Amino acid sequence: MVILGLTEISFCSLQGAASPQRKLTQISTIGALYSGLYDGLAPVSDMARFGDLGIGTFDRLDGELIQVDGQVYQVSFDGKVHRPSATMATPFFVTTFFTPDDSFTPPSGTDLKELETLIDARIPSQNLFYAVRIDGQFQHLKTRSMPRQSKPYRPFAELEAGQAVFELADLQGVAVGFRCPDYSAAFNAPGYHFHFLNDEKTAGGHVLALVTRKVTVRLETIPVIEVHLPQGNSDWSSAVLPH
Ligand SMILES: [Zn+2]
Repeated sequence: MVILGLTEISFCSLQGAASPQRKLTQISTIGALYSGLYDGLAPVSDMARFGDLGIGTFDRLDGELIQVDGQVYQVSFDGKVHRPSATMATPFFVTTFFTPDDSFTPPSGTDLKELETLIDARIPSQNLFYAVRIDGQFQHLKTRSMPRQSKPYRPFAELEAGQAVFELADLQGVAVGFRCPDYSAAFNAPGYHFHFLNDEKTAGGHVLALVTRKVTVRLETIPVIEVHLPQGNSDWSSAVLPH
């Protein structure tokens, strides 16, 4: 019984084992990755244990990772798309068992910033996490992929000049991403972060820009976050991580 001088109290309904699917699971932190901790920490196959829709990267920052319908793809620096072996490692991924609770169709010609504004206007809170899946036809996409690194690793910000950028036009595919709140900056990327894969599995990457033609946007509200931190990795253990 609640005996407080408040007229209305809304309790959060904690998710238990009965509904574990609306959860974001990630390994390591984006800050660790951006610091230059590019060594793989877990096999890519681990992603399937925690979700079927996600993004990330590979050991030594070897391209962009996108997980769609449980399948993991690698968009390499040369722009080609591969199916990585299950034993390939990843230093950072984010995944969820995608169970959308909202969807909408933005107008043709919507660009990335406009799309983010439309999603911002629909979501119930700026303080929760969201998975976003955008399926359909795109007029234009600008994506990037990173080249595989070798030690000593340099911080991510120093590598952007060496990224490969791809201009893609008139293609059908899926953009997968997450919206993370500002307070999560210590462990994930605040705001939106999308990776793209075309239906033919021949093009994709980290999304820098896009313009829709005819797409459906689906959203999943995520109230549970699970961050897996590595033990026994000396570089990770001794790093001074940004906060
Ligand atoms: Zn990315």
